[in-house]
Order: sequence, then C-alpha cells, then structure tokens
Amino acid sequence: EQPAVEPHDRIAVSVKDVSMVFGNVHAVKSASFDLPKGRFLTILGPSGSGKTTLLRMIAGFDRPTGGEIFINGQPVSAVPPHGRAIGMVFQKLALFPHMTAAENVAFPLKMRRHDARRILEKVERYLDLVRLGGYGNRRINELSGGQQQRVAIARALVFEPDLLLLDEPLAALDRKLREEMQLEFRRIQKELGVTTINVTHDQREALVVSDEIIVMNGGSIQQKARPVDAYRAPSNAFVANFIGVTNFVEGRVVELAGSRATIEANGLHLAGLAADATLAGGKPCAGAVRAEQIRVAPKDGHLDGLETVVDGLVVDCIFEGERVVYEIRVPQLGDVLMRVFDHDPESHLQFGPGDAVRLGWNARDMHVFAK
Ligand code: ATP
Repeated sequence: EQPAVEPHDRIAVSVKDVSMVFGNVHAVKSASFDLPKGRFLTILGPSGSGKTTLLRMIAGFDRPTGGEIFINGQPVSAVPPHGRAIGMVFQKLALFPHMTAAENVAFPLKMRRHDARRILEKVERYLDLVRLGGYGNRRINELSGGQQQRVAIARALVFEPDLLLLDEPLAALDRKLREEMQLEFRRIQKELGVTTINVTHDQREALVVSDEIIVMNGGSIQQKARPVDAYRAPSNAFVANFIGVTNFVEGRVVELAGSRATIEANGLHLAGLAADATLAGGKPCAGAVRAEQIRVAPKDGHLDGLETVVDGLVVDCIFEGERVVYEIRVPQLGDVLMRVFDHDPESHLQFGPGDAVRLGWNARDMHVFAK
C-alpha cells in the first residue's frame, strides 16, 4: 500500500496551482498534484482538455501563466527544456531515418560528450532493454513501426533522465501493436524505475500502464487516483462516463442516509451509493451504473438478490468476441437506452432485438452524482 503522504525527497514532480492561458483560452486551470519518484502517471482526458499543455509545461516548452512546477524539489520555470533531465517520446518520433538504430540511440550521449567506449556499452544495454539486441546496424527506415518505437524509447532513456515524458507515442500504431507496446512501456518503466508521465485519451491504455491516473476535462483535474479507484470509485459523472461504459439514470434525490442515496427517476424509487459530497435532497442527480454490472434475464426470469429490477426491450445485440453488448430500452425509466455487457459464453446471444427482458443491478453498483 502506498503511504497517504510522501516525504518531500520522494516527490519527483510537484505541480502547484499551475495555469496556462492562451489569449482567451484557459487551457489549464489551477492544476496541482505531486508525483512520487518511480511512479507511472497517466494524464487522461478528451481532446482539448489540456493534457498536452500540462505536459509541455513540465517539459519546459511552455512557461505557465500562473503557479510553479518543481522537479526534484527545485522550481523549474526558469530552466529551459535541455536543462531539465527529461527523456521524451512523442507520436512523431523524430528519429534520424538515414542513421542506424544504434546511431540514433547514441545521439543524446554524443551530445553530452560521453566517451566512445561508454557510448557503445550503453547503446548495447538500452537496445537490449527494448529487445532490439542485434538490430543496432539497421537503418530506421528498415525497421517496422513497433521497432522504431522501441528505438525512440531507448533514445529517450539512454542518458538516464530523471523523468520520462510520453505524449501519445502509441496513437499512430494499430491496435494489436499498441497493446503490445503498452505492456512494453510498463515493463521497461518498472525495470528502470524511471518516473514517467504519459498523456493519452485512451482510457484502456491509462488503466493498463499506470500506477496513477489524472483525469482532465476543460483544463481542470477531475480526479487523481490509482486505476482501480478511478474505475471503481469515480469522483464525478465525467470520470464515470470517461472511464468504462456507464449508463446514466437521471432523477432527483429523495433521501440521503449515510452512504446510501435514494433517487426518484420517472416515478420509480431507486437505491444507490451516494458518490458525491454535493448531493442534497430534492436536487437533480444522475445514477451511474457500469455496463458490466447489469444482469439480464428473460421477461419472466429471476434476478435473485438484486435490489433494482426493471423491464426492458432489446434494441440491439452486438457480438464483440469475448462479450456481447446489449442495447436495451427501459420504458419504466423514461425510455433510457442502457448498455449491458454479457461476458458469459453460455448465455451469449441469448436475446435478440425485440425480445422483452428484465434487467437488474445492486444498489451499491449505482453511483449517485449531483447534476
Ligand atoms: P489533444 O488530445 O487533442 O491533443 P489536449 O488535451 O492535449 O488535446 P491541449 O493541446 O493541451 O489539449 O489544448 C488545450 C486547449 O488549449 C485547447 O482548447 C487548445 O485549442 C488550446 N491551445 C493549445 N495550445 C495552444 C496555443 N499554442 N495557442 C492557443 N491555444 C492553444
């Protein structure tokens, strides 16, 4: 378990009240967080949420219009990018195409005037680390997309930076290669223990690679949490909607009792978990239920032990291989369309469009947020 508060010398990056204003665009609004050494942090958010702007300020390409960034305890606003010990990998890799893999990896060391023998040793070590041992003499344009990505990682790490910054480096790769490289990033980061900040809009990637996730929207940090907590205990409706597939039932709070909230939606009373400190009796709210937490049964079937059970009509049924996605219309909840995942191969494709069904979920699986 991670300690709740890290001692100061364990903090690699500290972002304090950092803002960035471009003309009338408030790209980053008072962002604050501490990142302990050795952790893998992902900044996750939709397009335009301020992720890249935040990363660029940490890298030193842009100077915050407010607040301060500390790296290893030192304020860095006045330090240019090349004065910060930072390795970077971007979507556009900017490798030298006419040079070999080894020459590319050697480049940062030559710039830093390391001696030739040490360069050879290190290049070999870092090419091995990214599993390109034996590929050193290949030119970049003779390597596959995934291999080029590995060269870029080796080049970013070979001078042993304090911090590795990744700006959507995998966005251009096809899905299978992207998933493979996500695991590679994770393996390499754990092996070296280098503090890493990754930017992506891919929620799956964030869950897979990170020790911690920051979710951004409209320039503001919405939540900072471990992947499992961001998923299981989203702090607001935006996070619940952005990570995973979530159904929302809109209503009004009728009762709050400890962690339990009862809401009224289209005349029905539904029990849920009060997930938001700003909930208040009578106020509009939304009950959020994950697609995988809803169970489906035939119209006259049983859903034992579930506190909320409603009737539905199957609108669509999508076979995705490892699961089936049902789209189910629920007239009792004001005709809301709910998405339900069924991962059980035994019951796969049990229902088709037009079938009347019953669906249900546990009260603790409906997180109630203020609207
Ligand atoms: P994406 O996933 O599309 O890269 P992002 O979350 O990284 O998005 P940013 O690139 O940080 O978002 O942009 C945040 C906001 O700031 C956007 O509204 C963008 O248009 C604006 N912005 C970014 N850079 C500049 C700039 N140099 N000048 C003016 N506005 C900018």
